[in-house]
Amino acid sequence: MDLFEYQARDMFAAHGVPVLPGGVAETPEQAEAIARDIAGQVVVKAQVKVGGRGKAGGVKLADSPEEAKARATDILGLDIKGHVTRKVMVAQASDIAEEYYFSYLLDRSNRTFLAMASVEGGMEIEEIAVSKPEALARIPVDATVGVDRAKAEEIVDAAKFPAEVRDQVIEIAIKLWEVFSEEDATLVEVNPLAKAPDGTVLALDGKVTLDENAGFRQAGHDALEDVAAADPLEAAAKEKDLNYVKLDGEVGIIGNGAGLVMSTLDVVAYAGEEFGGVRPANFLDIGGGASAQVMADGLGIILSDPAVKSVFVNVFGGITACDAVANGIVSALSMLGDEATKPLVVRLDGNNVDEGRRILAEAAHPLVTVVDTMDGAARRAAELAAA
Ligand code: GDP
Ligand code: MN
Repeated sequence: MDLFEYQARDMFAAHGVPVLPGGVAETPEQAEAIARDIAGQVVVKAQVKVGGRGKAGGVKLADSPEEAKARATDILGLDIKGHVTRKVMVAQASDIAEEYYFSYLLDRSNRTFLAMASVEGGMEIEEIAVSKPEALARIPVDATVGVDRAKAEEIVDAAKFPAEVRDQVIEIAIKLWEVFSEEDATLVEVNPLAKAPDGTVLALDGKVTLDENAGFRQAGHDALEDVAAADPLEAAAKEKDLNYVKLDGEVGIIGNGAGLVMSTLDVVAYAGEEFGGVRPANFLDIGGGASAQVMADGLGIILSDPAVKSVFVNVFGGITACDAVANGIVSALSMLGDEATKPLVVRLDGNNVDEGRRILAEAAHPLVTVVDTMDGAARRAAELAAA
């Protein structure tokens, strides 16, 4: 989960990383009030989860509360690379003498954590890496040791931070590691890490990605989720503990096991080419225990998606055998009653398949077609979606 800058900034502040005071606003009036509290020059910044806001007109200075209100009016609603601005952060502005770059990230390809630092900050890291690779220090961080003072010194010296900011940046490096490790982040980036004219070093922008797999031990992280941006179907699925991702096609997909569901998406997309480019409408893995209730919950979510024209239920019976899945489908359909309005193509295979098919044949639900092969079922579902 990516955080907004203001959330990253609050997290930095909580761990003692130097940031400037500010607040977040959803209206120009709120922005004005925050600017009035801060007094003096402020910076009004679009809160969107994408970089390059400065160049896109999403970062503006304001000399008075009235001006902050005007800049917030300009920025709220601004589309930055496809992200519509719904909030702005208003923070005390700082003059900038120098702009540095500092980050920690999970380096998956080298199976380690990595520190990156440069005295050539401000521009995007991708640009620094291309235009001046020698100016970007890359220092692996051992997960079992972390960033102690010696490691922080190594990073700061490798990046050749000037002597007058060295001690401050070492302190910041240690505290940013605290953010990274204690908050279970996979990315903590500060760009710019700025030197003010008086020599103080400050985090003027922050980007944090949290590892959702660690959510179980991070009680506070749920509250950081951007509920307004979540897809309503995905939110409903999450509430029912379903592993659901909305996609933009027409064929609803239900399967058991992430691998099977992924290959189902592939065969449906392939079969759909023949029918004018019909595509999967979602990913939904109902997991091992495909009970009637789970099947009903899953079907309920998929059938309430107006984009769905047909549904492909692709189940491989294992510990939960095909007869249990077939009973699940039959009772799910009776639980849903009139809500079930779209054709279902069912492919069952694996443990107890004959009994499963017999149950579906006996129920003879008018919406259900049973097809024996995965390719055949995908083709039929695509055909029904195109009809
Ligand atoms: P990004 O473009 O999305 O990375 O947004 P940043 O927060 O990094 O802002 C872009 C640029 O705006 C920074 O590199 C700074 O040059 C400038 N900027 C940000 N905050 C301030 C500030 O408080 N004062 C001044 N003078 N410039 C700022
Ligand atoms: Mn930045």
